Amino acid sequence: MDLLGLSIEQIQQAIAPLGMPKFRAKQISEWMSKGVFDFAEMTNLSAKDRELLAQNHRVIGGTIESHKVSAKDGTEKFLFKFSDGAVAEGVLMQYEHGNSVCISTQSGCKMGCAFCASSRLKFTRDLTTGEMAYEVIAMEAVSGKKVGHIVLMGVGEPLDNYENVIPFLKYINSTEGKNIGMRNISLSTCGLVPKIYDLAKEHLGITLSISLHAPDDETRSKIMQVNRRYNVKELITACDHYFKETGRRISYEYALIRDVNDTEESCDKLIALLKGKNCHVNLIGLNYVKESPLLPSERMKAFCDKLIKAGINATIRRKLGEDIDGACGQLRAQHNKEQGV
Ligand code: SAH
Repeated sequence: MDLLGLSIEQIQQAIAPLGMPKFRAKQISEWMSKGVFDFAEMTNLSAKDRELLAQNHRVIGGTIESHKVSAKDGTEKFLFKFSDGAVAEGVLMQYEHGNSVCISTQSGCKMGCAFCASSRLKFTRDLTTGEMAYEVIAMEAVSGKKVGHIVLMGVGEPLDNYENVIPFLKYINSTEGKNIGMRNISLSTCGLVPKIYDLAKEHLGITLSISLHAPDDETRSKIMQVNRRYNVKELITACDHYFKETGRRISYEYALIRDVNDTEESCDKLIALLKGKNCHVNLIGLNYVKESPLLPSERMKAFCDKLIKAGINATIRRKLGEDIDGACGQLRAQHNKEQGV
């Protein structure tokens, strides 16, 4: 059994049949959260217990397949491989307010957004709670940089892996985990509406980011398949509910695509959609995705200024890690290249 990502009580249950005292669970948990993934290195455990643990359990079946550091901005990109061959990417970014990691929640993605590299590779499976915890802990341990913020914006749709993502958030927030405040965690979704209502009920205090990318159904359905299931109106209603229920301001992500969603008309529609709401719009420069006909917009600043003038809180997201394919929506790029996809 994988012990990483489990609560102390769950570890106690797992080791009880081995005849180990309860306090061992806390010791094991402390080692794991510091990035020690081999029982043999847990030096305050007896040699016998270390061996028993190794025979019956493991911390996590993961390794770091590759690790690249951007020469431009120090962004670090990791490719993780799990024991069944499933892969996941994570990125560590340095900001003035501290270090932030972007993690994957699934190996591959089912959502099929036209502008995203993650859609290009087949969905393999959901990542487990422990595997997501491993991404965070391994990136901190290997880089030597303390992680203060987490964004669930790597490969995968977090709300499509709800059963593992919620326990992951609770673990990473706990003192046995990484003690990272829920306010320092953002979950990004393409808009699985029923799950947004479920998430609101959890009252976790995380920030909800919505990949909006278009203000009307016609445009949004063209670039995001999910919009054919849950339309813009249903999505915004769910977001209003989330804000009302949790008091947490929604962050809308909007990647500007030339002549698709960057026109005056789109901007007017976006203003009409969000006017009067206590929310934030994060404008993203579209990153290059192989063989995609979609191009970045040249109207970023004008679009942003117009939103601000209309009273909408909008900013342009800084690009990081471009030289290592670590930017938004690009996480699969290098892996795809190697696989010939
Ligand atoms: N499935 C989740 C999280 C992963 S995507 C979601 O859809 O939100 C993380 C963010 O990167 C999303 O806002 C996504 O829309 C954006 N993104 C994807 N491809 C991009 C690209 N080529 N350029 C810029 N942003 C992109």
